[in-house]
Amino acid sequence: MALNMPIIKLENIRHSYKVGPGNLLVLKGIDLSIEQGEFVAIMGPSGSGKSTLLQILGLLERPTRGRYFLLGKDVSGLSDDEGAALRSKTIGFIFQMFNLLSRTSAVDNVLLPAIYSGQGVSSSKALELLQDVGLSDRVHHKPNQLSGGQQQRVAIARSLINSPKIIFADEPTGNLASDQADEILEKLCEMHARGITIIMVTHEQDIASYAERIIKIKDGQIQSDEKNTNPKHPLNKAQKSQNEAAFASSPHVLSDLSWLEVKENSSSAAKAISANKTRSFLSVLGILIGVCSVIAMLAIGRGAQKSIEARISGLGSNLIMIWPFSSAAFHGGTGTVSRLTLTDMDEISHLSSHIVAVNGEVSSDEQVVYKDKNTNTEIDGDLTSYASMHSAQPYYGRFFTAAENNDVARVAILGQTVVDTLFGKSDPVGRQIKINRISFKVIGVLPPKGSSAWHDQDDLVVIPLKTAMMRLGLNGWSSSSSRGRYLKRIEVECDGPNSIDGVMAKIRTFLRARHHLPAYKDDDFTVRNMQDIQSALTGTTKTFGILLGIVAAISILVGGIGIMNIMLVSVTERTREIGLRKAVGAPRRAILAQFLIESALLSLLGGTIGVFLGVGIAFLMTHYAGWNAIVTPQSIILAFGCSALIGIIFGFWPARKASLLSPIEALRYE
Ligand code: ADP
Ligand code: MG
Repeated sequence: MALNMPIIKLENIRHSYKVGPGNLLVLKGIDLSIEQGEFVAIMGPSGSGKSTLLQILGLLERPTRGRYFLLGKDVSGLSDDEGAALRSKTIGFIFQMFNLLSRTSAVDNVLLPAIYSGQGVSSSKALELLQDVGLSDRVHHKPNQLSGGQQQRVAIARSLINSPKIIFADEPTGNLASDQADEILEKLCEMHARGITIIMVTHEQDIASYAERIIKIKDGQIQSDEKNTNPKHPLNKAQKSQNEAAFASSPHVLSDLSWLEVKENSSSAAKAISANKTRSFLSVLGILIGVCSVIAMLAIGRGAQKSIEARISGLGSNLIMIWPFSSAAFHGGTGTVSRLTLTDMDEISHLSSHIVAVNGEVSSDEQVVYKDKNTNTEIDGDLTSYASMHSAQPYYGRFFTAAENNDVARVAILGQTVVDTLFGKSDPVGRQIKINRISFKVIGVLPPKGSSAWHDQDDLVVIPLKTAMMRLGLNGWSSSSSRGRYLKRIEVECDGPNSIDGVMAKIRTFLRARHHLPAYKDDDFTVRNMQDIQSALTGTTKTFGILLGIVAAISILVGGIGIMNIMLVSVTERTREIGLRKAVGAPRRAILAQFLIESALLSLLGGTIGVFLGVGIAFLMTHYAGWNAIVTPQSIILAFGCSALIGIIFGFWPARKASLLSPIEALRYE
């Protein structure tokens, strides 16, 4: 900018406000030019348009008509953000109402414009400025701990933080007692002495007399424009010229999101959240419950899947299983039920040379007693082939022998849970227990297999099949009238994967003939190999996963709405703060970022509590309910990621709303 160009030049500025259906013309053609380094007072009666003029000069309001040159540049057509950038680097504001951020210390208030200027201002400069205005002992006080005069001095320090060329002050002493007002005016004079152009609005002659030039407006027009030949504090000319050299044309480049800004935004968000603890907590409750239940359910699902996997992997892959009911019943529906007998098992074992072993099983829940302890547990009668088919070689003691089965021997192998219940830490092998009042000798302990939400695989006792059928009268699925005669299941082991299909076909043909099934009838039994069973279980897990996803989606939606709701409230509550931030140079992007950070923080808070609760629930289930719940790191990362994302997605609308507020309207907001 050429030095002979005025710092401010207005050409025929007109401004009208929309009021109701019509327009109210407030400025009626203002021509004005102000040189760099001047101290100008704008005077006039209330309602004459002083503040409107100052807001136009400060780029907070765009004139309806006319041209405005600031630093030699036509700024009448600047966008919001360009205006913000120019404000941030060249203009300082002092408002009648101080407009400090509450809950924020003096020094942080002073630093506020610096975070948007991108000039890397250090906090030591803020401390210096506070010292200049005589507040070095109040730097950590919040606005509500300062007097009016002190607050306005903080505001003065704030207006200087970005080394502005021009200070606009709108009735800076309007809310102050006269002795405090004098202090403020002295500060303005000092700033003027340093070469800063000062434009101050006042309606008091006494205050205007500090200025070098007094412009009086009335009814939106300049009435008089006179030099004040005898200002109260004459300007030190020597100091004024010092700054002239440093005066360069000012870029209005938009600043990018800076670390300083993120830090300030996060701490102001944290303050806003902690200032309304109950409200914040209630608003994140949705996210909290959602995340908590997703974590807990994932953990239980994972545990269930693990134990299913463990169960299946314990079974040989060449296994075929036969149940005495139709596959409709197998899948939980109603279907035909038939019977499997020992003779069936015997004949099946001779169906093919590919069959290596067979096992028949009966099963029932019975009372088991040792001394004064007792438990109700699953009693399985099996053949010796059970041990290899189910990877159930006792890790302690031994399995029963074929001879013991034939002799209907009363021997039992216990699962770990039964051992724990009946024997605690003492050695069970060799002891006598009673199953349904019949004495059995414990000969071994089954290897532990773990438990899931719906099944403890170690809560069982295995005894010889014949003993189970003949001594205990155990049965498969049929009614009690046929106790001890039918099998619950037959298991067949083939010599290799290639023979499975052939063997299954033979078993089906055999059983259909045996049950006299005509061609039009479905099987009244079910033959499955491990592959079938595995894919059926995977299907179940998938269904579970989809259900879980739906639950998660609903709770996330509900949680997100909670966040959005509270963010809208927060934006409304802090409209004036938004106005101030914009006035001191925050571009739209910065306001958007600020509220996105706040909502992300809020929902992360909910997410974190949710994760802890969810993990806690999984822990309790594992340790007290005996369920196998596995919390994976992925599910925690997923929960955190989701909750941050929800905050950002659902916070976007409120944040955008905030970013689009016009600074001056926001500042006026009641
Ligand atoms: P001053 O600061 O000189 O007291 P203002 O510039 O604030 O006066 O206002 C000038 C006139 O414009 C007043 O009559 C006021 O009622 C009107 N006015 C100010 N702001 C608005 C607004 N946002 N909408 C409508 N009218 C307004
Ligand atoms: Mg006013």
